[in-house]
Amino acid sequence: MRPAAFVALTALTGLVLAACAGSGDGADSTDSDGPTVVAAFYPLAYAAERIGGDQIFVVDLTPPGAEPHDLELSPSQVAQIAEADLVLYIPGLQPAIDEAITQVASDHALDVTAQIPLLPAEEHIEDGDEHADEELSGDPHVWLNPLNMSIIGQEIRDRLSAIDKTGADAFASGSAELDASMAALNTEWLVGTATCRSRDLVVSHEAFAYLAAQYNFVQVGIAGISPEAEPSPARLADIADFVRANDVTTIYYETLVDPKVAQTVAEETGAATAVLDPIEGLAEGSTQDYVTLMQANLAAVQAGQGCA
Ligand SMILES: [Zn+2]
Repeated sequence: MRPAAFVALTALTGLVLAACAGSGDGADSTDSDGPTVVAAFYPLAYAAERIGGDQIFVVDLTPPGAEPHDLELSPSQVAQIAEADLVLYIPGLQPAIDEAITQVASDHALDVTAQIPLLPAEEHIEDGDEHADEELSGDPHVWLNPLNMSIIGQEIRDRLSAIDKTGADAFASGSAELDASMAALNTEWLVGTATCRSRDLVVSHEAFAYLAAQYNFVQVGIAGISPEAEPSPARLADIADFVRANDVTTIYYETLVDPKVAQTVAEETGAATAVLDPIEGLAEGSTQDYVTLMQANLAAVQAGQGCA
């Protein structure tokens, strides 16, 4: 087991204990008699909370600080998936969750990408990648386009309204509010990136295809779709050549994964590094949310790409 997986599992155990301790005290959100929604990872939990508010009880399977791609599930989490009214997930992102859904939740799981046109999953890793990226039907990182978050919210609204008709009005207004805030965020990004010196977005992990497509950037990934895939020396040399030839000044790395690959390329080329958060989870103790993280990402891109 890799250290990151061990940390995730330890954190999970704590989360389950906390959930158990909280369930009997009569004061927390488990008292909601509305639907229980289990979200595979943070952006889906965020969308569910925006739609359902206090009408629903949301469980996020990926704890703060954990990297969701290689999440492992505890038996009690599999039980939560089995017993939920609705499970939200993105196929191909988290193999453990895909497997649990097939086994115990195929009748109450929602693939939130069902209404979203998927971009192809490109695989740059020529050897040694144990992740089954070739099985992906498309790039799973849809949530990094705010307009896709609106679509996800609408899907959640429709499913929740079918499960709990008394909540339908509340779910409709939650969805309308999410639509408005995602439209505002989209406008902020469109305006903020209208003129940039460089449109090449060199990133450590290829999480940003939907963001790049929406805001007219070209994603150049050092590693592949799975953040822990190790690029080969030949791939690193190609990226370094690209950075020099295209006058790229900033290499982006992410919060939950070791930055050494990005740092290697930066040191070799004289480029700077900066954080671009794929919002696959919150950092431990974070007080941010999807919107504030996307605004921080916009500021990072504006600085790193020379946007006026
Ligand atoms: Zn990812």
